[in-house]
Amino acid sequence: MPEQRVADAATAPVLVLNAGSSSLKYQLVVPETGEVLAKGLVERIGEAGSDVADHAAAMQAMASRLRTDGVDLDDVRLRAVGHRVVHGGPDFSAPVVIDDAVLARVHELSGLAPLHNPAAAVGIEAARARFDVPHVAVFDTAFFASLPEAASTYAVPRDLARRHAIRRYGFHGTSHEFVSRATADLLGRPLAQLRQVVLHLGNGCSASAVRGGVAVDTSMGLTPLEGLVMGTRSGDVDPGLHAYLAREAGLSLGEIDTLLNKRSGLLGLSGVNDFRELEQRLASGDADARLAFDVAVHRLKHYVGAYLAVLGGIDVLVFTAGVGENSVALRAAVTEGLEELGITVDRARNAARSGAARVISPDGARVVVAVVPTNEELAIARQTARLVG
Ligand code: ADP
Repeated sequence: MPEQRVADAATAPVLVLNAGSSSLKYQLVVPETGEVLAKGLVERIGEAGSDVADHAAAMQAMASRLRTDGVDLDDVRLRAVGHRVVHGGPDFSAPVVIDDAVLARVHELSGLAPLHNPAAAVGIEAARARFDVPHVAVFDTAFFASLPEAASTYAVPRDLARRHAIRRYGFHGTSHEFVSRATADLLGRPLAQLRQVVLHLGNGCSASAVRGGVAVDTSMGLTPLEGLVMGTRSGDVDPGLHAYLAREAGLSLGEIDTLLNKRSGLLGLSGVNDFRELEQRLASGDADARLAFDVAVHRLKHYVGAYLAVLGGIDVLVFTAGVGENSVALRAAVTEGLEELGITVDRARNAARSGAARVISPDGARVVVAVVPTNEELAIARQTARLVG
């Protein structure tokens, strides 16, 4: 029974929350052991006809679902609540304990992340009202606060960039940090000695270059739109595309933003954004699916090559997240033809199904190619626990 498991203070769980505008993802996890006591998702918050009117109601809905799962939040001696916050802007380069000033700042950063930060702020407010424990914000951008200026700076006028906090921030940082550490553990080598390229490939996709556990480059920028081809996001385009579309297609800036974020990427090229469906269409010989796959792979190779140059050579290439952990075909395609660079995968190892961290390159290869499952909730729970002591 969960109640018995959490009776001991040393195993008191952390509640990890990821609040979106109409959803609340939650997970109750013991940071030391990684044990997940319960998890779930409250959806349709604030939508017409939904029972869940707002984020405060979502906290109640979560608590009652947890009770149904045998977990009473008032009995588990909750240690803290860890909140995933997408944008930390120029202010936050590490997790912080949330006070009124931090909450206000998360809200103020909404200009940089209009789809994400307002929801996070509302979620934090509702959770603080409901749970009288320390609350911690863990930022998706924090791991990339270390980027050298040469990598984080856009070549636009400096005064304008300063005034509007324009720089490459990067996202998925919690995952890139967790996975780069887990990879060092897998290999039994000191993190400080490894040059890694990490490919986080889920619905959103990003690449990072990590030297000695410190991020030195990443593919996402001011917003999560830059970089790799994603489920519905275009990734890199010529910035001139915006003016061209405005002129030639009569689209407004808002429409162009929606087009590139929600109707592009794999979806725009093939009609599907889910990678499993894309693979099914590939198997049936669909030409649009083939092009979408090829464009995504081509872009991935671009970034692998770029980061190889940025790092002056790599020790490890790591695949993670839904697509990276599961798509045998994508991993094979990205690494194909890179033997000269020391990158190759063993066919059988790549094809073997497993949920565990594993090496898929041949023994003795110059570059280790690995598949390492990400776990952002556990990473948030651990950072939260570390901060609240
Ligand atoms: P999110 O960015 O939402 O966290 P995930 O990391 O869960 O996303 O990744 C979701 C993607 O992973 C989807 O495109 C899904 O189709 C893909 N995926 C999941 N399982 C498989 C699989 N067995 N083979 C190929 N793709 C998969």
